[in-house]
Amino acid sequence: MDVRLVKGLLGLGLAALASVALVETLTRTIAPWDQRLYPLVAAVLLLCLALLHHRPQWAPRIYLALALVLNAYLVTAILLALFNPLMPRSPLALVSSTFWMPLGYVLAFLFLERRAALGLVGITFTAIFLPSGIALSQGALAPWGAEVRAVLINMALAHFTFIVALLAIGRLRYRYQMARERMVAMQVLASTDPLTGLPNRRAMLEQLDNLLALAQRGRQVLSVLLLDIDHFKQVNDNHGHEVGDQVLSQLGQVLSSQVRACDLVGRWGGEEFLLLAPATLLEEARELAERIRQAVATTAFPHGRVLTVSLGVTQYRPDDHREALLRRADQALYRAKAAGRNQSCCAAAD
Ligand code: GH3
Ligand code: MG
Ligand code: MG
Repeated sequence: MDVRLVKGLLGLGLAALASVALVETLTRTIAPWDQRLYPLVAAVLLLCLALLHHRPQWAPRIYLALALVLNAYLVTAILLALFNPLMPRSPLALVSSTFWMPLGYVLAFLFLERRAALGLVGITFTAIFLPSGIALSQGALAPWGAEVRAVLINMALAHFTFIVALLAIGRLRYRYQMARERMVAMQVLASTDPLTGLPNRRAMLEQLDNLLALAQRGRQVLSVLLLDIDHFKQVNDNHGHEVGDQVLSQLGQVLSSQVRACDLVGRWGGEEFLLLAPATLLEEARELAERIRQAVATTAFPHGRVLTVSLGVTQYRPDDHREALLRRADQALYRAKAAGRNQSCCAAAD
């Protein structure tokens, strides 16, 4: 639950309470107990507001307290209006509390977890309608006149319908949350390479498009590095596909450890990896490529042999488009391979 939203709700609640108190005072219709209870409720709301502001980590406890206090107040107000022998019967006191009662149910479902909310509204509903039902059946409410029966039955039905509607909304909210969580999980799956845990080709293309959009607006330089493992087929042939998988996974970790936080590393496919280095000039990208090449060559991999990689490096040029940029990186990689592997090669700067 968003703390700022609750603070807004509390402010609204305080304004509503002050308005109701003012109107009832001016019209001399304020119930005697409300003269004491309104300031008390206002003090609780203010305290909750201050606590939420200074101790947001207590939010769940504050929400529980709010739901409890509001329900307790409304139950007390309704029961006092109905049963207090010292006070004159006041249909207004009974009906106005009834107006506000659904807010107690709403807050319970808004603030509390479903079961706790159902428990609280169940207690509230029972606390109002059990004693009034018994009193009604025993004729104890006769001084209210014949209409009180219709009012109480109407009220019980309305409250019950409210609670069912809130349960339905809660169910919908739960389903919506589940669907959202599933969607986020699917998005992660769709953009992650399962073997290395790195972004996959699809995700890298998306990132590249974003960076290209920035570069095309002249906001940023961008370099791209394409990396291919040398003679990886031999790793599979000599040590098995499973060890080959372990090598790929470890290489992913080595690459991630060598780049800056703003650089992006992804699995381009097979034994090829793509690196996107924003705000990086060709010369800096060449240094990065060399650093990576040396880091790989000095890492102990699961197959127990030295692993080497070749890299093709290029920098974004004005009016470049995605395919041209990637083609240049690929051609530079091809040249690195042709020149004997275990080296990086740059596409000449424009
Ligand atoms: P070069 O130096 O010319 O790049 O030689 P290479 O052997 O690395 O290249 P080649 O394209 O001949 O072979 C790539 C190998 O990578 C073949 C393929 O089975 C292997 N490979 C691709 N994806 C995976 C994978 O996910 N796991 C494993 N274990 N091997 C893979
Ligand atoms: Mg390859
Ligand atoms: Mg290869």
